[in-house]
Amino acid sequence: MKLISFHHRNVAGYGLVKHDGVVNLAEHLNNAPNDLRSFLASERMQEARGIEQSVDADFPLSAIEFAPVIPNPDKIICVGLNYRDHAAETGRAVLEKPVLFARFSGSQVGHLQPIVRPTVSERLDFEGELAVIIGTPGRHIRADAALDHVAGYACYNDGSIRDWQSHTHQFMPGKIFAGTGAFGPWLVTRDEIPDPRGRTLQTRLNGEVVQQTSTDLLIHDIPSLIVYTSTMLPLLPGDVLVTGTPAGVGAKRSPPLWMKPGDRVEVEISGVGGLGNPIRQE
Ligand code: MG
Repeated sequence: MKLISFHHRNVAGYGLVKHDGVVNLAEHLNNAPNDLRSFLASERMQEARGIEQSVDADFPLSAIEFAPVIPNPDKIICVGLNYRDHAAETGRAVLEKPVLFARFSGSQVGHLQPIVRPTVSERLDFEGELAVIIGTPGRHIRADAALDHVAGYACYNDGSIRDWQSHTHQFMPGKIFAGTGAFGPWLVTRDEIPDPRGRTLQTRLNGEVVQQTSTDLLIHDIPSLIVYTSTMLPLLPGDVLVTGTPAGVGAKRSPPLWMKPGDRVEVEISGVGGLGNPIRQE
């Protein structure tokens, strides 16, 4: 099942994708949760599957604006330097523990929505990544149970403002500009991806392949990221783990390759989908 958050006629909603249409779940669930995050917390996935089988789409996909898959997560935890080839191109050592940083919900945009190049910098870079969305809450999660806590997977473009990222040794400023983190197009439920390894991830800028990897090459795999982060605080339904980007980022090319207004960037992951965004000037 593919679950989305959207705006339809300027009203926020969530639903599932059926062929080229959208089943508006709030129209079909009794006492419907308010948003996709609340839906994940409500443990009504089976009910949604029944609705998927029994009703027609309420409107075409072309009638919606995609929102970030989870527009309002409690946490967006991102992993830096989680592919060896990317760590190598940055000249940084691979550490025993994952490099973690946070994003905020206001830095996110949905599928087909513009990624925004801010007025203060022209160094807007792409980072194609696999995002994990938590379904079942938990603390101190064990590795062998970690994937049971996953609701599903999505594509993420961890768009980065590189000069702001390196103002100091804390790189958060480069990661939280408004409209730089693209998240979509949908959440593919875990039953369709029992094993998140072996996925091909590709980033394309204006149709040219700029990053390509397999999720087999993650240094800290998804179960170990869930174990590590859930040791610190409970993971909650709708929380997002953004698992890191492979080599090929624009900043490490010669000459550097920055995204600019008029460009189009895509992140495609096999079995998950394709996330596409135009670039717009602030
Ligand atoms: Mg990243």
